[in-house]
Amino acid sequence: MKDKYILVNDVGTTGTRAVIFDHETNVIAESYEEIPQVFPKPGWTEQNPVEIFESCVRVIKLALQQAKLEAADIEAMGIATQRATSLLWDAKTGEPLYNAITWQDTRMSDACEKINKSMFFKLLHIAGGGYQRAAKLSRGLRQNLVGKLLITAAHFTVTPAQSSAHARWILDNVEGAKARAQKGDILFGTIDSWLVWNYTRGAVHATDFSNVSATGMYDPFGMRWSPLLLKPFGLPGGLKLPEIRETSGDFGTTEVFGAPIPIKSVVADQQAALFGEACFESGSVKCTNGTGTFIDMNTGDAPMASIHKMTPMIAWKIRGKTTYMIEGLISSAGSSIQWLRDNLGIISDASESDALAQSCADCGGVYVVPAFGGLTAPYWDPYARGTVIGLTRATSKEQIIRATLESIAYQCKDVIEAMEKDTGIEVSSIKADGGASQNDFLMQFSADILNIEVERPRMLEATALGAAYFAGIASDYWQYPDDIVKIRRIDRKFVPEMDESIRTTLYAGWKRAVERACHWA
Ligand code: ADP
Repeated sequence: MKDKYILVNDVGTTGTRAVIFDHETNVIAESYEEIPQVFPKPGWTEQNPVEIFESCVRVIKLALQQAKLEAADIEAMGIATQRATSLLWDAKTGEPLYNAITWQDTRMSDACEKINKSMFFKLLHIAGGGYQRAAKLSRGLRQNLVGKLLITAAHFTVTPAQSSAHARWILDNVEGAKARAQKGDILFGTIDSWLVWNYTRGAVHATDFSNVSATGMYDPFGMRWSPLLLKPFGLPGGLKLPEIRETSGDFGTTEVFGAPIPIKSVVADQQAALFGEACFESGSVKCTNGTGTFIDMNTGDAPMASIHKMTPMIAWKIRGKTTYMIEGLISSAGSSIQWLRDNLGIISDASESDALAQSCADCGGVYVVPAFGGLTAPYWDPYARGTVIGLTRATSKEQIIRATLESIAYQCKDVIEAMEKDTGIEVSSIKADGGASQNDFLMQFSADILNIEVERPRMLEATALGAAYFAGIASDYWQYPDDIVKIRRIDRKFVPEMDESIRTTLYAGWKRAVERACHWA
């Protein structure tokens, strides 16, 4: 058993990656390719699905070559993908009707706004809003199913990021699409289903519970495709929806690489990272500091309703048991470090920010609120704009750099406090991954300002690791959860060292700075 390996195909928004792990989760080989994004008009973001599949095959072949392995040496393969990017394709020929429309695309903004302003949605908001006000006072009102549905209804809106919006647009704008769909000739899928269908040469049309919960088409309370969510978009409209399978399970076998490789997991990127960080218990939290920061909390075996504007989702389904999570997204995190490098030119490499931030004792009262395109969780203010405040004649470039890094930790605190209020769970530690978590200053300041331990694993690419675990568990390569807990390797734990009074003063200043940044544009 030990001489076999686990292969992961990790498909992000900017690139495709193949990673081969051994039994101890050492990375034996890794290859990566960027995939082009297509911007036909302002606000439109597409990707060519055929190119994505071809790129996936190339990176996998390259990784196998690098590792001097054959397909027969692979025990199982896992697929982790960006969420909600979706497409339609012909069930017989496999030809896509149109490019994949990504989660960043805004072409359906007007159509979504019309739906959100419809009488039905207005009534939902009124009914849900009243209930939510009462539920803020009583936790009991948040626990029953009807209550959870009403709270969710309070701020339920459709968005152009949803797969349902993408499918509607393709049906309406590609000639003959509607009629072909009505004949049952057209398949719908997110990138994971598209890849599985291609890897299995059309034998399997399936997705998993983590991906489907990000489509805006699925009801995690009733665990079914939701008529309530599909109807405003006139879906399914004859489209064949993928079968939903367990995250760690069976997605057929691919023969694309010479010998058969069983596909044993399909999982959405952030959910994979939550699993990769071994956040198996309710209340455990991971924080992925990449271009943006994704904070996810495992909320156990019942779906949550969030009154603090966190996004409830399915984390995974494994061996008949569904686990849920809530998510808070911070849109500017590592990207604000790129701004220091590319726009201000005050660092030449992201990693320089670490030593420069540590070279000054504090920010001297300066705050950077990196609301370049508005503020996301928990503020959700699209009209907020980036703000640098508290400058004096003595402010140095090092302090601006430090304040930018500190802003990532402050935003993380904002989200975690909202999650604590939602769930009633006190977060006692977080696990941090993603490229920006290499930054020791950011890790220590996060521990200080959150007043909790921050654990950094050796493997910062937690998404690939999580997909590997799911695939390995389904093929008995690893036992869940014992083996995973045993093989997880920690690089460093950062413990809080800051005085309570300093923490309180600094965070109060951040809140004031956010107020100034809000409602600007
Ligand atoms: P993504 O998966 O979103 O592409 P990654 O996990 O690869 O992101 O991380 C890349 C981001 O992390 C970039 O935005 C970069 O600016 C930031 N970053 C990388 N290294 C550091 C560092 N040492 N300190 C601060 N930020 C960093």
